[in-house]
Amino acid sequence: MRPFSYQRPTGIAEALRDASGGGVRFLAGGTNLVDLMRADIERPTAVIDINRLPLGEIEETASGGLRIGALVPNSDLAYDSRVEVRFPLLSSALLAGASAQLRNAATTGGNLLQRTRCYYFYDLATPCNKRDPGSGCAAKSGLTRIHAILGASPHCIAVHPSDMAVALAALEAEVLTTGPSGDRRIGIADFHRLPGDTPQVDTNLEPGELITAIELPAEGFADHYSYLKLRDRLSYAFALVSVAAALRLEDDVVAEARIALGGVAHKPWRNPEAERLLVGRPAGRDGFDAAARVLLEGSEGQGANDFKIPLARRAIVRALEQAAAATPQSPTDKRIR
Ligand SMILES: Cc1cc2nc3c(=O)[nH]c(=O)nc-3n(C[C@H](O)[C@H](O)[C@H](O)COP(=O)(O)OP(=O)(O)OC[C@H]3O[C@@H](n4cnc5c(N)ncnc54)[C@H](O)[C@@H]3O)c2cc1C
Repeated sequence: MRPFSYQRPTGIAEALRDASGGGVRFLAGGTNLVDLMRADIERPTAVIDINRLPLGEIEETASGGLRIGALVPNSDLAYDSRVEVRFPLLSSALLAGASAQLRNAATTGGNLLQRTRCYYFYDLATPCNKRDPGSGCAAKSGLTRIHAILGASPHCIAVHPSDMAVALAALEAEVLTTGPSGDRRIGIADFHRLPGDTPQVDTNLEPGELITAIELPAEGFADHYSYLKLRDRLSYAFALVSVAAALRLEDDVVAEARIALGGVAHKPWRNPEAERLLVGRPAGRDGFDAAARVLLEGSEGQGANDFKIPLARRAIVRALEQAAAATPQSPTDKRIR
C-alpha cells in the first residue's frame, strides 16, 4: 500500500476542511476502499476517517419518511423496525447483499459509493478506462458474463454492484450531501452516472463532497414489494440481475408502480414509461410482461452475457407477481417461488 496521511475528525466542518486538497478519500466501513487501496487501484494521498462524525442516526422526517445517516451500518438499517415495517423493500435488498459480517461494517454512504466488480477494473495488468482513463476496456473483448446490457458505452461495460441502491431507486430516495459548494439534495436517479466517455466518474458527487444522509419519502410500498436477486451462488455473490418491484394496488388494479433493475447497467436502471404502462391495468402477467419489454428496450448483450436479457425479462415479471401477491422474495430462504 502507498503512504497516505490519516485524519479522524470529530466534526463535519473539520472533515470538509481536511478534504479540501486533492487525492482525498473518506473512510467509512472500509470494506471497499481498503481493498482497493491494497490492490493499488485507489491511491489516495490522504484518508479522512469519518467514523467519529455524527452521522449514525435514523430519524423521522416531517413528511413521514426517514432520514438515514450516512454512517448507519447496513445491518442496523436492515433490522431497524421502522425500515422493516415501512420500507421492507430496502431491508430485503440490504439482506440480499454481501455477508452478515460485511453488512455489520458497511455503511449507507459507502454502499452507494462502492465501485464496480468488473474483473478488469481489479486487474492492473489489463487496460481499464475506469481505473486508468484512456487506456481502453479489456472487458469488451474479455469475459463479459457479469457485464452491462443497458446504458453501456464503447468505453466501459461495467455494472454498479450495490443492492441497496436498487431499492433506493425504486423508493425514489434522495442523497443529502455537504461539500465545497454547500449542502445539496440529489435525487437517487441523478446520483449515479452512465459511463459515457468518462467511466472513471461513477457519480455526480464533487471532489471532497460528503454524503451526510439518505432520505426516504413516506411511501414505502410495504404491502406489495419484492427484491429478487439472481446470482451464480445463492449467497455472498453480486447480482447477475436484480429487480426491486413495488406496487400500490386498488382492487387488484395497479395505482402506482416502481421497477428498478440491478446488475444490468452502470447505475440502477429505471424507465418511468414501463411503470406508467402498468397504471390502471389489472396486476397480472400480461401487463407485467409488457412493462418488462419496455424496461429492457435497447438492451444489448456483449456475448457471454446475452442470457441476461431473457433472464431480466423473466425476473421482472416474477418480481412483479411476487409483489402483487404480497409474497415477496424471502431474503433468507432464497428459493424462488
Ligand atoms: C466479499 C464482498 C461481497 C460483497 N457483496 C455485496 C453484495 O452482494 N451486494 C452489495 O450491495 N454489496 C456487496 N459488497 C460491497 C459492500 O456492500 C460495500 O463494500 C460496502 O457497502 C461499502 O461500504 P463501506 O462503508 O465499507 O465503504 P468504504 O469502503 O469505507 O468506502 C467506499 C467508498 O465510499 C466513500 N465514502 C464512504 N462514505 C462516504 C460518505 N459518507 N461520503 C462520501 N464518500 C464516502 C469512500 O471514500 C470510498 O470511496 C460486498 C463486498 C465484499 C468485500
